[in-house]
Amino acid sequence: MFFVAFALWVFASSACGEERDPARGWQNFERAVREERIPLAEALRRIEEFSRILPAAYPARDSGSSLFFPLKGYGLRHVGGKRGEGYRPSRYEFVGPRRRIGHPAQDIFVYDGNQDGLDDRSGKPIEVLAFAEGIVVSAFAEWVPGFSVNGNGLRGGNYLWIYHPDLRLFSYSAHLARLLVETGERVAGGAPIATLGRSGTNAYAERSPTHLHFMLLRLEDMKPVNPYPLLQAARATR
Ligand SMILES: [Zn+2]
Repeated sequence: MFFVAFALWVFASSACGEERDPARGWQNFERAVREERIPLAEALRRIEEFSRILPAAYPARDSGSSLFFPLKGYGLRHVGGKRGEGYRPSRYEFVGPRRRIGHPAQDIFVYDGNQDGLDDRSGKPIEVLAFAEGIVVSAFAEWVPGFSVNGNGLRGGNYLWIYHPDLRLFSYSAHLARLLVETGERVAGGAPIATLGRSGTNAYAERSPTHLHFMLLRLEDMKPVNPYPLLQAARATR
């Protein structure tokens, strides 16, 4: 069974052609990692391959690489913990047995006391913004309560991965409600990409205040980077 799935995956990934559609190729890769359908050595080889394919397909534009705070109407003081102490990489790895370890991200909390996914101040959905210019390389919006992969709940719920050529970083935004962009789309820094929700195994639970889970990984090795200093440098959008 595993062999058949793997053979199909090899066939599918070569047939789609990473070179022709690198964004969709990366999305297929990310799904295979998430669903634990790819052997570790193969995954490490693909990470190395994408670190060449993506910059070639999406060259940096050096557009000033402006950074935007990823939630409209919010800022640094809404980041959880004092001075970004919510970032606990704990030797997290994108692929392999350490992929569920630690919290290599920042959580940004919003005003949603009644947990209806609307901003208590405006009664409107909260917009998630593109951290910087980039290309959407994976978009998932099919989460429902109880959604599970290999018996593990889907922690991120509905989520987006964006590759940022100027920064050579991926951003991962999780616990989204509705996605406003699709895989392959180029987005400007600060553009609305989703509305914030409570999707994801733990984020859905009543004990969890509504928040955006925001992670940054390096293109070359998929190691996490603390978003806090970059969030400090980011422009807040009212
Ligand atoms: Zn988080």
